[in-house]
Amino acid sequence: EPHVAKFVYDFTEGNKDLKDLLGGKGANLAEMTNLGLPVPPGFTITTEACKVYLDSGAEPAALRDEVSAHLDALESRMGKKLGQADNPLLVSVRSGAKFSMPGMMDTVLNIGLSDKSVKGLAEQAGDERFAWDSYRRLIQMFGKTVLGVDGDLFEEALDKAKEAKKVTVDTDLEAADLKKLVTAFKKIVKKEAGRDFPQEPREQMDLAIEAVFNSWNTDRAKLYRRQERIPGDLGTAVNVCSMVFGNLGPDSGTGVAFTRDPASGHQGVYGDYLQNAQGEDVVAGIRNTVPLAELESIDKKSYDQLMQIMETLENHYKDLCDIEFTIERGQLWMLQTRVGKRTAGAAFRIATQLVDQGLIDEAEALQRVNGAQLAQLMFPKFDEEAKVEQVGRGIAASPGAAVGKAVFDSYTAVKWSRSGEKVILVRRETNPDDLDGMIAAEGILTSRGGKTSHAAVVARGMGKTCVCGAEELEVDTKRRRMTVPGGHVVEEGDVISIDGSSGKVYLGEVPVVPSPVVEYFEGRMHAGAQDADELVEAVHRIMAFADRKRRLRVRANADNAEDALRARRFGAQGIGLCRTEHMFLGERREMVEKLILADTEEVREAALAELLPLQKKDFVELFSAMDGLPVTVRLLDPPLHEFLPDITELSVRVALAESRQEPHENELRLLQAVHRLHEQNPMLGLRGVRLGLVIPGLFTMQVRAIAEAAAERKNAKGDPRAEIMIPLVGTVQELEIVREEADQVIAEVEAATGTKLKLSIGTMIELPRAALTAGQIAEAAEFFSFGTNDLTQTVWGFSRDDVEASFFTAYLEKGIFGVSPFETIDKDGVGSLVAAAAKAGRETRPDLKLGVCGEHGGDPESVHFFHEVGLDYVSCSPFRIPVARLEAGRAAS
Ligand code: ADP
Ligand code: MG
Ligand code: MG
Repeated sequence: EPHVAKFVYDFTEGNKDLKDLLGGKGANLAEMTNLGLPVPPGFTITTEACKVYLDSGAEPAALRDEVSAHLDALESRMGKKLGQADNPLLVSVRSGAKFSMPGMMDTVLNIGLSDKSVKGLAEQAGDERFAWDSYRRLIQMFGKTVLGVDGDLFEEALDKAKEAKKVTVDTDLEAADLKKLVTAFKKIVKKEAGRDFPQEPREQMDLAIEAVFNSWNTDRAKLYRRQERIPGDLGTAVNVCSMVFGNLGPDSGTGVAFTRDPASGHQGVYGDYLQNAQGEDVVAGIRNTVPLAELESIDKKSYDQLMQIMETLENHYKDLCDIEFTIERGQLWMLQTRVGKRTAGAAFRIATQLVDQGLIDEAEALQRVNGAQLAQLMFPKFDEEAKVEQVGRGIAASPGAAVGKAVFDSYTAVKWSRSGEKVILVRRETNPDDLDGMIAAEGILTSRGGKTSHAAVVARGMGKTCVCGAEELEVDTKRRRMTVPGGHVVEEGDVISIDGSSGKVYLGEVPVVPSPVVEYFEGRMHAGAQDADELVEAVHRIMAFADRKRRLRVRANADNAEDALRARRFGAQGIGLCRTEHMFLGERREMVEKLILADTEEVREAALAELLPLQKKDFVELFSAMDGLPVTVRLLDPPLHEFLPDITELSVRVALAESRQEPHENELRLLQAVHRLHEQNPMLGLRGVRLGLVIPGLFTMQVRAIAEAAAERKNAKGDPRAEIMIPLVGTVQELEIVREEADQVIAEVEAATGTKLKLSIGTMIELPRAALTAGQIAEAAEFFSFGTNDLTQTVWGFSRDDVEASFFTAYLEKGIFGVSPFETIDKDGVGSLVAAAAKAGRETRPDLKLGVCGEHGGDPESVHFFHEVGLDYVSCSPFRIPVARLEAGRAAS
């Protein structure tokens, strides 16, 4: 049988899993129909038809006939014909894409009304006012969305009609007034659209369908999709649904409801109801709605039925649903449902509530929450009790609660923050020149740009609070001030507060409170306690689900005992990356200088001998903080000149000393060393294992410090589990040489202390060559840790510090990246190297331990990837550990 494309589905033919084809609204209307719920009959035109239309500019040839066939069936079922003069069938034409895009696309109600059928409707309903009200709504909606007439013109005409009648609400207009209004509306259409309002019902319907197709590509829909990362080529479905009327008098009405509270998750009656109204009136706020609970006294029968249906829906979808309904003269109709949006906190609470109700299991509960929500719950937030003066709202670009003095340029931001002030950098938009200021500021506020603007991208990368695109704020950088709605002026130095989780902007200092979830992870708040926070309780349980499910272990990147202890409290199962470079800073810098300047072996050895006990002490502290858990210590990685003074500063010092004829031999030698060690591309220069190979004694000193610290801990009855990690290896030969020396040092320490140390030696895989020759490298490595930051830089050939601020925004806008490859691992490129290296390494050495220690280790999507390619652990900053645990659990369930 030849495959015939099917572009139209009756509501009885679809189901909730067909969202790609029928859109969310259509799929769920079908699902409710098949559940036997009261849904007005209708049919759905598929997203495929929309795609054909958008690609070719014309509807698919077969569509017209298919629509006709479905319309015929609908008409015979309803016993009336679309727009027929005496007893008209009316329909709505509703948009509905796969993902909900609230308010972005179009819907037209009351299609089928005309100068003739309006009379038929009046007679049929026995209500003239109702019929003319419906007709004026059709012309208004059709005029605006299909014919492109400015909606304000209709609103103004409506206001005039109310004024003329001296009434304030539309329900007080009578049939005669509405008739006049229809005439006025038709005039507006004729004048603005250059054509008459179409009287032919099928023409109305076809034009409305086409308009819905077109609404996929309006500017605001495109912008919304970019911000929400919804692909641009999905298209929308179109639902044709027979009309039911909430505007048929006081025993009719329309409402929206949630099956439970989307803010707390509590079960109860949540929603709004509006008597004698059509759907869009509720959201438009034309008249005041009443709380849904009041429906019980208005229409008990419909109320009870609605409660019953909400229960059916929850049990069926096993989740919080939101719904739209209409009551027509005491008869309840369901017009929409979907799994409802909720706050991050409610997501956790609802997931555990549904487990308790036996509706979902633990694995499913893990799918109902995510790491981004958990991260959001961990940010400090503004005190909800505080009195606030909100002056604007922009896009919540990067979460957090920031308070500081408003400054309007980067230079001032840096200057003020150096002198200890907290500042908020306020700009119309930011560009790469603002980077210093952004770093110095507590938070960033812009009046232009969306979620992919420079400010948003860079702030998220830095983990800095950011509100962008707060368009009501008039930022005047020249005069260093901004004007807020109402005319108040914020001058440079005035304190403002910005909330990167809600996008809200406040005047003055709003007090900040720590997140209860962090208090819980820190052990300052306990689950199970009598007055325990409900949210903490839910997070506690979900984390337990995740820990039971996950295969990936989660370690921390931590360099000192304090961070290690916090990481442990947050659930770290070891340290995946301890950088040793900080152990060379501070007052130890001088010793490092000596080491670098040493021109004889004795001087060098003396310098190393000075460093050894200090390093050892650091390791003893770290191993005792992480007693019983693995600690991966990376030997020195950055280029040596990073430990030397700044070249300009030093040159000035030398010049000054020279002019004053003071002794400056040391400075001069230092300056020469700085020149000698200067590199054009330090990232690709003398660093990592290369340092170990050319600076005699450096790596062996570090290995000795690790081994001696481990021996000391062991003798103190501790359980140190150190792992020595060699950075930036490109070939197995490098690793073999370092390894041989290290093994020898370890043997010496074992002999001297009389303790057997089980130290393992492994390497980072952070260069393409290492990944490509992983099979060979595994011969000399007991573990691999993928350094995905450097691997991303070297695979793409760009230096993070330079590119993020310069061209990433353009790349994101052009869609070359969906998200920065430093944020989420580039699966196709960097990721495939990781997968291949893991496989090759394990072929050589089946028990090779595999981990990742780049920032990707704490990124939700990347964690799923690392789970899939079979790594043993991810390592991330202490604060991201709960997120990684949760995502690892989600990946495994
Ligand atoms: P949106 O996606 O913007 O919510 P909808 O297609 O759901 O748009 O329709 C807008 C409003 O019109 C909603 O309140 C809906 O309930 C109402 N509505 C849609 N179709 C009908 C219908 N056939 N009968 C009565 N009201 C309807
Ligand atoms: Mg709707
Ligand atoms: Mg590296």
